[in-house]
Amino acid sequence: MAFPKTRMRRLRASAALRGLVRETQLQAGQLMLPMFVAETATGSEPIAGMPGVERLSLAAAVEEAREAADLGIAAVLLFGVPAQKDEHGSGAWEEEGVVQAAVRAIKQAQPELLVVTDVCLCEYTDHGHCGVLRDDGTVDNDATLELLARTAVSHAQAGADLVAPSDMMDGRVGAIREELDGEGYSQTPILAYSAKFASAFYGPFRDAAGSAPSFGDRRGYQMDPANGREAVREALLDVEEGADMVMVKPALAYGDLIAAVRRATGLPVAAYNVSGEYAMVKAAAAAGHLDERAAVLEILTSLRRAGADTIVTYHAKDAARWLAEQS
Ligand SMILES: [Zn+2]
Repeated sequence: MAFPKTRMRRLRASAALRGLVRETQLQAGQLMLPMFVAETATGSEPIAGMPGVERLSLAAAVEEAREAADLGIAAVLLFGVPAQKDEHGSGAWEEEGVVQAAVRAIKQAQPELLVVTDVCLCEYTDHGHCGVLRDDGTVDNDATLELLARTAVSHAQAGADLVAPSDMMDGRVGAIREELDGEGYSQTPILAYSAKFASAFYGPFRDAAGSAPSFGDRRGYQMDPANGREAVREALLDVEEGADMVMVKPALAYGDLIAAVRRATGLPVAAYNVSGEYAMVKAAAAAGHLDERAAVLEILTSLRRAGADTIVTYHAKDAARWLAEQS
């Protein structure tokens, strides 16, 4: 039945009608706020390209977490910026490490707020790669697994609600699951960065976390942006290894894969709206080319529509404020 019997505009005539038939809802409780906790930071230090995002001292991180909780944001995702780095990234699993201390402090101050930890070695290795290196400079997959598992356990011990491995080593979800279970943390869920692409959109993050590789790049372990079927395979493998949630990262250029991973796995899916995506919106808004509020809410809604249950985004606090004003 087509025009003139069908008129699509009928249901667009008023805000009430549009609200009645809106297919996708966006709520603060679906957002996760990434935070950079730096051992050497005093207060909050600005990050180039990411206005409104800062490298935080422990005290500033607790304050930021309180703000997130007050705004109804579901979770914070912690990245550590340690004072010392070494070849193996041993700061990643230190009991008194920067992330472990932040988890304890935030959980004590905000017991209801979910604290998720990024599990990787790149912020802690002096070469900036996500695992230990062989003599030829490539990342040794199997030797890295044990270190990642040790790191995840140290996060769980500190009180992390979820651990989120982002390294893209093969077999790491299984290795982490086994170690967590063996150490008494069978109830700690794993949010796997399943389809993490070697993307040009991570630029500002690497400055923020001080994790740029000192040589080469990450294309030997992160995914080729051209590959969609492979992303689904990665997600399905993580499901088999015991992932509780899967992630697609970055988000904006990967909506097709958020949808595909959602269909293929049936697991809750997270999308990571990354630093470069944030920086683009901020820069365009600052130059007067975009209405920031409208653009951000449209972007986040589109990720929900693509199939993301949870969105990791640097816009989380602003979005939560805007959503509260709307309702
Ligand atoms: Zn990494």
